[in-house]
Amino acid sequence: MKFHWTSDEATTLGITFTNNEKDTVLKNILPKLQNFKNCLKSWHHRKLTLIGKNTVLKTFALPKLIYVLTVLPNPPNDVINDIKSAIFNFIWDGKPDKIKRTQLIQSVENGGIQLTNIDSFLNAIKCSWVKRYLDNTNTSTWKLFYQKILKKYGDSLLFECNINNTILHEIANENIFLSDVLSAWSDVTHNLETQNSSKTILWNNKDITSNNKTFFYKDWFERSIKYVDQLYDYRIKDFYSFDNICYIYGIPSNNFLKYYTLIKSIPIHIKSEINTNNTPCTQTTFVENILGRKNKTNKIFYTLQIKNPTENSKIQIKWQVLFGENELNWKHIFTMPYKATIESTLRNFQYKYIHRIIATNKYLFKCKLSNSNLCDFCSENIETIEHLFWECKHIQPIWNQLISFLEQHQLNVKLSFLNVSFGINSLKSIDCNNIVNFMVILMKYFILNMKYKKQVPNFNCFVHSLKLKIQIEKEIALRNDTLQIFEQKWNRIKFS
Ligand SMILES: [Zn+2]
Repeated sequence: MKFHWTSDEATTLGITFTNNEKDTVLKNILPKLQNFKNCLKSWHHRKLTLIGKNTVLKTFALPKLIYVLTVLPNPPNDVINDIKSAIFNFIWDGKPDKIKRTQLIQSVENGGIQLTNIDSFLNAIKCSWVKRYLDNTNTSTWKLFYQKILKKYGDSLLFECNINNTILHEIANENIFLSDVLSAWSDVTHNLETQNSSKTILWNNKDITSNNKTFFYKDWFERSIKYVDQLYDYRIKDFYSFDNICYIYGIPSNNFLKYYTLIKSIPIHIKSEINTNNTPCTQTTFVENILGRKNKTNKIFYTLQIKNPTENSKIQIKWQVLFGENELNWKHIFTMPYKATIESTLRNFQYKYIHRIIATNKYLFKCKLSNSNLCDFCSENIETIEHLFWECKHIQPIWNQLISFLEQHQLNVKLSFLNVSFGINSLKSIDCNNIVNFMVILMKYFILNMKYKKQVPNFNCFVHSLKLKIQIEKEIALRNDTLQIFEQKWNRIKFS
């Protein structure tokens, strides 16, 4: 085959190559970035909910970037920042963020909407190359190129090791793509829980160093030495003598200094963690686990990087102060709207309510967007969330009417501001709890809409909107083929 070398650029598999790697990345990513932005723009005017926008982002916009981000080195930081700001502009309609980004990327039960975190997303798609590389059924020729580079460090072994940045740069040398893949892998596996019951790998381990350099003795590795505990003599509770090592593994007798330096560099904490059972190292198990899966590995790579919040957010603390002695079960609070309704406007409303981003007059007045901070219904008190949805003299009666309505349907509940805020969990059947929780979300949503219309809410109007919402749930159930679940939930509610 004859190659035709061109001095400018060439295109293959949809990627345009130039003589300069950075130019190649930019030349290919910028048009895709434009498509990505245009896609978000085209959905901009549809008044989507937060959850709806997240779906658009994941289903329509991000796929436009996946291919270039997978096959090319990571784009420069300003491009990544550009992607991030496009996302948050879309989410908040060009206004400042109302909920912290670290909160939005969380799972539902941790108070997020699983919004994509671009850095973790990039790492996950780069890690997908490790799987392709390790997968023996994949016989692509590109592997030969990387095998040649990685051989010196133990080849596949490298992906089980806890590698440090110095060695990472040494391995990748000038190869930016390889460097991206290795650091993504290192970032992702760094989050694997280090369990005491697992073995520690000797090689390329950033915790085992001499003069800041990690170890890799290729000929020892080929003699199947891989874990620290292989050098440990359980009978004497110390490392083997050099003579024993030579005898057991067939190590040449002139390797004494190599052995001595190695065991001298194993820190005390690793030595004390050595144990007798045969569980392999966490990272080895992880690699096996990944190779055993046909799909969804990117999701695993991604999820590993999303750390659960370790403390309550400011908003959670605020609610806790408000409800004093009642201990708030946040997992229950965050998942409640997803159990209570399949309809996204109500889920979205409740999410905003929990995060206290409801535009009350108190807030609007503070932002100079309203002439008064007083309640639209009574004009007597400051319109806070607590007042608007519970305390107001025009609101209390409709909650009482809701209690009677529920009683008529054998749903006996006490409503308090706590219950109407976060739902109940006290009734015997899940469906009953869900119905009540649906009603308290809908009632608040209804109150807010009446506030916008500046009309005092009345219960008949609420019943009217309840009928409409149940009809919508029915239509969604029909579409999702879940009519049975719908009927089981709603069969006890009859309108006279
Ligand atoms: Zn009021």
